[in-house]
Amino acid sequence: MLNTASMNIGIIGAGVAGLSAAYDLLKAGHRVTVYEARPYAGGLAAGFKDEAWEWPLERFYHHIFAGDRDILALVDELDFADRVFFPSPVTSIYKDGRLYPINKPLFGPWLEKVPLGKQLANLGDLAATALRVLAFKPIPLPARFRVGLATAYIRYNPRWQPLEQVTAHAWLTRAVGARAYEAFWQPLLEGKFGDYYQQVNMAWFWARIVARSPKLGYFAGGFQGFVDALVDKVRALGGDVRLNTHVRGIHPEAGGQICLELRDEAPLHERVLATCSPQMLRERTPMLPASYTAGLDNLKSMGAVVMVMALKQPVTHEHYWINIPKREGFPFLAFVEHTNYIDKQHYGGDHLIYCGDYLAPGHPYFEMEPEVMLETFIPALQRLNPAFDRSWIRKFWKFSEIYAQPVPFLNHSQNIPPIQTPIPHLYMTNMSQVYPWDRGTNYAVEIGRRAAGIVGNTD
Ligand SMILES: Cc1cc2nc3c(=O)[nH]c(=O)nc-3n(C[C@H](O)[C@H](O)[C@H](O)COP(=O)(O)OP(=O)(O)OC[C@H]3O[C@@H](n4cnc5c(N)ncnc54)[C@H](O)[C@@H]3O)c2cc1C
Repeated sequence: MLNTASMNIGIIGAGVAGLSAAYDLLKAGHRVTVYEARPYAGGLAAGFKDEAWEWPLERFYHHIFAGDRDILALVDELDFADRVFFPSPVTSIYKDGRLYPINKPLFGPWLEKVPLGKQLANLGDLAATALRVLAFKPIPLPARFRVGLATAYIRYNPRWQPLEQVTAHAWLTRAVGARAYEAFWQPLLEGKFGDYYQQVNMAWFWARIVARSPKLGYFAGGFQGFVDALVDKVRALGGDVRLNTHVRGIHPEAGGQICLELRDEAPLHERVLATCSPQMLRERTPMLPASYTAGLDNLKSMGAVVMVMALKQPVTHEHYWINIPKREGFPFLAFVEHTNYIDKQHYGGDHLIYCGDYLAPGHPYFEMEPEVMLETFIPALQRLNPAFDRSWIRKFWKFSEIYAQPVPFLNHSQNIPPIQTPIPHLYMTNMSQVYPWDRGTNYAVEIGRRAAGIVGNTD
């Protein structure tokens, strides 16, 4: 018989979703243990720190949007709001050897300090983007107008549901023509979804446009600072966060409890929430019925590989984010110059860049030695800045992750598995359930807290 008043709950994963769920379950009076395989909390949003730096840096580039309500609400609850700030960095497209800024503010940060300045700056940002699209010479003027009209239509269309029946590739090509699509949006889709790019549904793309803000939010102390505050709060509420604790098996017991198989113990929990990938859940839980695991197998995802470099010189002087079309032949599709977004003073004066790509699991980059990868990337950096020299590199790191970006195919809403699994008292939450929004830390908070409401429900 379950003691439903205060349950003993296990959570697999100390990423943002697992920690957000733990926080709510503890506040509701439950006892919570979080098991994290890695030596650090934060999952995909976790940072690492060079000894020369004041702030840790995310292993994978991260920012939040101004409308990311759930993470901002949690930040408020944690008394962490004064650590969030919203710069307006420049995001650009690379085309035929040139860089075209698309999001670039019209006014400096001074405007926000005058009365009504924030509103004026927001309007200015929108106007600046519209002007830059209109000034984008590689495509004919009528096509630029079509890009503007299509963007406005997507942004102000409140209904995403009909859009999941058509691919973004088909919808956008029809709306703006092949040349404009190839220049503006195909690079984004290809960069995120590789060979699946033509199969992603338009509702996902709608959400990308609707959620995006010109201002991109960051935390003083990086995303790791936010994660650490959350871990501290979970511990202060009595939760146990166990790092270096890999869950090797998930087994339902006859009495309704769930046994977690660790290296040398097997704790029992009244309820368990798994925040690992669907594939990991499937592998660790032999008792899941075949009809259910077939559904998990249908959830496809991309991995991510990035190379981070600490440089003595900047590669570009203003671009934070550059989308690089695949046809340009670069060995990576996203170039992110973090210190054109966040001041290099927090990193001991280093200029920090990411060269990244989403890749199908099994791509050779996952196994490639960092030194070999660096050699592959240096000529590409010289294409971005002919003066680039390997002597600029002070240090470099390679990071990769197999489950990094779920692929939303047509009618994805009908294929999302619920938080409750077919095994009583075993629940799951992961990025594949975030939809139509692009997965992100904001939605990890949202789904973690939503899952907590279900897992902790004692009715
Ligand atoms: C390249 C890249 C760029 C991104 N950019 C952004 C961005 O700009 N803004 C943004 O908001 N989001 C971004 N994201 C997404 C964001 O990081 C994720 O959506 C979010 O962190 C997911 O949180 P989660 O808790 O659901 O999953 P995860 O972070 O994956 O956490 C799951 C945790 O479970 C642990 N785990 C797995 N299996 C086991 C096991 N068997 N036993 C114990 N522990 C286990 C893992 O180690 C991990 O810590 C990006 C992600 C990537 C890969």
